[in-house]
Amino acid sequence: MSDASPVAPATPREAFDLLTAGNRRFAAATPRHPNQDAVRRADTASAQHPHAVLLGCSDSRLAAEIIFDQGLGDLFVVRTAGHAVGPEVLGSIEYGVSVLGCPLVVVLGHDACGAVAATRAAVRDGAPAPGYLRDVIERVTPSVLAAQAAGVSEEDEFIATHVRHTVDLVMDRSQELADRVASGRTAVVGLTYRLAEGTVRTVTSRGLDLPADGTAMPATASAPTSASAPGTASVPGHR
Ligand SMILES: [Zn+2]
Repeated sequence: MSDASPVAPATPREAFDLLTAGNRRFAAATPRHPNQDAVRRADTASAQHPHAVLLGCSDSRLAAEIIFDQGLGDLFVVRTAGHAVGPEVLGSIEYGVSVLGCPLVVVLGHDACGAVAATRAAVRDGAPAPGYLRDVIERVTPSVLAAQAAGVSEEDEFIATHVRHTVDLVMDRSQELADRVASGRTAVVGLTYRLAEGTVRTVTSRGLDLPADGTAMPATASAPTSASAPGTASVPGHR
């Protein structure tokens, strides 16, 4: 028996709430493992109606359906090291929102990200990376340089800056996505994930008016970050 709604959420808010509820279950070690049975497999064989596009880092600990407690047909997942964005990634996002009708795009970064760490090292040492790793590092470099220019020193803020930049990038590059956000059909939310705790926090959003604590993380009291852009819902740094 499949215990999740057979109909995909129609609004960005419904999709966001579904994902954050799933993450809370995962973080609390009370997952339901929805939509992972033979009934769901049969139901989704002929068509898919995922409720979110998830663009995340490829890190093996960031397994999308596990950490959001989702199942078959729930997420349209695009993952690259450091959620680096190139043409194929943009095309995949556009497929998810315009063909499949996903009302939500999530950009998911995480602490201890090897791609961000490697980029910080490459920027510091001025040494080119070998092979195609260089392409990943070149795509993460603008975020690292921007964070450095803003005086960032904490790893968490490098990660958050890279998530914000990735949200800005996909919105800037994809007219299809920008149009859908402008018309309220789709929202884009940037989240960071903490490996040890299994929790996410919201760092930025477009097209969804999230409260300052609109996150699966417990609310924390700290000063807002200077990197928060006007008109976006940002959660203060959590250290
Ligand atoms: Zn990573």
